Amino acid sequence: MPELPDVALFRQFFRRTALGRTISSVEARDPLVVGSLGRRNLATELPGRTFRASRRHGKYLFARADPPGNARNRRPVWVVFHFGMTGSFVFLQPGAPRPSHARVVFFFRDGCSLLFVCPRRFGRVALVDRPEGLIGAKRLGPDPLSRGFRGLRRALSGRRGAIKAILLDQTALAGVGNLYADEVLFQAGIHPRAAAASLEQKRWGRLWRALDRVLRTAIEREVDAKGFPRAWLLPLREEGARCPRCAGRIARGLVGGRTTYFCPRHQKM
Ligand SMILES: [Zn+2]
Repeated sequence: MPELPDVALFRQFFRRTALGRTISSVEARDPLVVGSLGRRNLATELPGRTFRASRRHGKYLFARADPPGNARNRRPVWVVFHFGMTGSFVFLQPGAPRPSHARVVFFFRDGCSLLFVCPRRFGRVALVDRPEGLIGAKRLGPDPLSRGFRGLRRALSGRRGAIKAILLDQTALAGVGNLYADEVLFQAGIHPRAAAASLEQKRWGRLWRALDRVLRTAIEREVDAKGFPRAWLLPLREEGARCPRCAGRIARGLVGGRTTYFCPRHQKM
């Protein structure tokens, strides 16, 4: 399931392929994918516009589509992408065969196209006036890699409950999902069920450094688990596996309704 690092890579892909290209038409027929997040019509509003900028907040990607020329009376619109469980992008050269499960297709004037592919249809594509509107409507918390992020303790302390459940709560912190929440707690040596309110200053610091490092490393290594450091939990999520940090046994449990892997030996309550 795409988390912050995956969406960061989708953004890189978008910038390499679709940025600077002018849309000639849009095919957006799946009402579940294009009608759930907003009701505006991509097929009528986007043709003639050019993708000029992008940004990411948590697991959402925003692409700014500007009108032609200096038409000051026409405002930019933003296409928002949420990748759900199985969403991804495919970029096609003219005439290339189309893969299955393409839910939205942006055709460009030069004959290339960008496809939002999503087999399980949990992904969403919509138009918004500006990203802040959607971020506010969804009550998304701050993005931990954004420039203005002021630290984990400031964002999360005061929340009640298990630290893992709070890391997953998108209204507290935007972008972290199940895999990276486990990884960060593993690296910080914090039990996933530890109460956030009980964490001392020192542990908040450790957690924040682990979160920042894990997210940045995952993006640098292109979210390929085979390329992740050997001391990480992510490539060996398996009950009974040897912990690469302390040689304890990896345990599996349920925290915040999600399957959780952790090492009870070095992740103390
Ligand atoms: Zn361990």
